[in-house]
Amino acid sequence: MSVDSQIIKAIDKGVVHRICAGQVILDLSSAVKELVENSLDAGATSIEIALKEYGEEWFQVIDNGCGISPNNFKVLALKHHTSKLADFTDLHSLATFGFRGEALSSLCALGNLTVETRTKNESVATHLTFDRSGLLVAEKKTARQIGTTVTVKKLFCNLPVRSKEFSRNIRKEYGKLISLLNAYALIAKGVRFVCTNTTGKNVRSVVLKTQGSGSLKDNIITVLGMNTFSCLEPVTLCISDSCNVDGFISKSGQGSGRNLGDRQYFFVNGRPVDMPKVSKLVNELYKGANSRQYPIAILNFRVPTRSYDVNVSPDKRKIFFSDENSILRALRECLQQIYSPSNASYSVNKVE
Ligand code: ADP
Ligand code: MG
Repeated sequence: MSVDSQIIKAIDKGVVHRICAGQVILDLSSAVKELVENSLDAGATSIEIALKEYGEEWFQVIDNGCGISPNNFKVLALKHHTSKLADFTDLHSLATFGFRGEALSSLCALGNLTVETRTKNESVATHLTFDRSGLLVAEKKTARQIGTTVTVKKLFCNLPVRSKEFSRNIRKEYGKLISLLNAYALIAKGVRFVCTNTTGKNVRSVVLKTQGSGSLKDNIITVLGMNTFSCLEPVTLCISDSCNVDGFISKSGQGSGRNLGDRQYFFVNGRPVDMPKVSKLVNELYKGANSRQYPIAILNFRVPTRSYDVNVSPDKRKIFFSDENSILRALRECLQQIYSPSNASYSVNKVE
């Protein structure tokens, strides 16, 4: 196509919105992840994720968090509206999962969004319905405990290609979602997680259920099972006064024997993230001790919020560390000791 005869036009706002929304919400797990993170940001101690037909029909996240006050109803699902970022300098000291005000507006563009919510200041809850552009179109009173329920029906219904892919891959998407929910259930302290899936007429199965324990060990036992836990070794690594790593990793003779990275969970200050370099390092060092299996790893990196940036990818799974090399170096030394046959002590403190 020749460009010189073309006229440059602004893309229709609604179309831009849909295009951008599709980058924030990539699939079922990124959609549910945003809602779970909103519940955690709202201080919930109980989060229930309900799916209908593995999430293809609808999904719902029900929490007992602080709720949303009526003066926020109108702007709740508008693009780039957030209660979490007061000014731009805040970006460096973020303590919340969300901050871009994109999730609810994106979900409106891609599916049918309704919200039920009540704060401690209201005696009844309100049911809210939003249109594709995030405008509040209906509001009615309803009964509910304090907290919020967000329901999304027919995700991707207005993106034909994505919608077809979504239906075709729903079991795979569901598997990815369960693995992601496991990550939140492992790391969240004092938060009860339940996930149910309803199929057919009314067959409801519980896929995940935790009691909201305060310890990583208890969470591992609940989520991955006692057998798995007994094959793990604790890792405690102090890189500097403000940077440390703790968690669990497979004992050298007792890996998972499954696919590479199948059961590896990495967190930065409690935020589940992808850490391909750490995963590669863990696998490489484990291979020296046991070439037939892959290690399970659950590692939380505690670092100052100023030393990394989560604003790298739309789903915030990628992370940019300002001093990644020294973290990797320290972790390498620690794991070398763990997997060294001559070393019986698995816990390393203060690696310079
Ligand atoms: P962000 O999380 O980046 O602020 P979202 O689009 O995910 O953007 O949410 C917009 C706003 O809606 C949040 O800032 C918060 O004030 C409110 N909100 C969303 N979900 C909940 C929830 N479960 N409980 C309380 N408030 C919520
Ligand atoms: Mg959010």
